[in-house]
Amino acid sequence: MLIDSFQRKISYIRVSVTDRCDFRCVYCMSEDMEFLPKKDVLSLEELDRLCNTFIDLGVKKLRITGGEPLVRKNIMQLFSNLGNKIGQGLEELTLTTNGSQLARYAKDLFDNKVKRINVSLDSLDKNKFKKITRNSDFNKVVKGIMAAKNAGLKIKINTVALKGINDNEILDLVKWCGENKFALTFIEVMPMGEIGEKRIDQYMPLTEVRSLIKTRYSITDDPLKTGGPAKYVHCHETNQKIGFITPLTHNFCETCNRVRITCTGKMYMCLGQEDKEDLKKPLRESENNDLLKKVIYKAILRKPKGHDFVIERKKDEKFVPRHMNVTGG
Ligand code: SAM
Ligand code: SF4
Repeated sequence: MLIDSFQRKISYIRVSVTDRCDFRCVYCMSEDMEFLPKKDVLSLEELDRLCNTFIDLGVKKLRITGGEPLVRKNIMQLFSNLGNKIGQGLEELTLTTNGSQLARYAKDLFDNKVKRINVSLDSLDKNKFKKITRNSDFNKVVKGIMAAKNAGLKIKINTVALKGINDNEILDLVKWCGENKFALTFIEVMPMGEIGEKRIDQYMPLTEVRSLIKTRYSITDDPLKTGGPAKYVHCHETNQKIGFITPLTHNFCETCNRVRITCTGKMYMCLGQEDKEDLKKPLRESENNDLLKKVIYKAILRKPKGHDFVIERKKDEKFVPRHMNVTGG
């Protein structure tokens, strides 16, 4: 069992299988992103071994993320191997995706024991969607979401609240998700990586989103605790769960149960801090996993108490230079 120095049990890993993506969302990436050379990226076999080592160490839940995980070649092989671990230590295998490849992979995901997925969708307006993603196809994503629904996957839509961009769509998103029986979670934009514009210009506190929802719907706090950062409400008219992830207005680190692994095998003990441990070296240095486990145990003890995101940085204040596609969400 992995336990950090604040007695938090680490039972959840998020694994980014690629930093590449077919979208360029304005809050996630800069327009001219450079991606890692393929030679630096762990093979699918290495990712599988890494995940299995964490399962041996007591990890129960695993989320595959990116970049866009479904653009990685042969990615279903990894899902297939990890799906076989369900009931053998692993309790849940999930995915965060932009939805662009779901029409192709929804059934395979379900067959590989993925039962729930998170799909990121920030707008229901085709043109606005194009603007946010810097030119991606809204219809393809909705087709993918519906394919996933038909394949039997439970869907949660993740929406980043963006000031002046999708703030007039909050109620429409609640309605659309309610009609389709999708859970919905709003996220505050986090100041990660240079994106060519000021974060404060994008930032919409979720207190405002909540107030907006209350103008049309009755919501009550839901006691549901997932161990994750979201606080939930129940929306009575749509009979749906709505989550709020508020790294800026509320620090949720006291119950954090997760670490994140990048596609090059770096383990970040906190999304909002730069400290990391290289797992590629111990993974490649020895064929048995003892050394790797030792390195993981030691690094977990460095997991910090919490992040310190600040949306409006003063000139010399430190910020997280890493873009979100490195560690995924
Ligand atoms: N490409 C996949 C997707 O978009 O779902 C998975 C990776 S993406 C980095 C994971 C999640 O991070 C998405 O829900 C996205 O909206 C969110 N995200 C990206 N950059 C963010 C930022 N700066 N602040 C808050 N959320 C962010
Ligand atoms: Fe790609 Fe996801 Fe980042 Fe959008 S949020 S650019 S889909 S990695």
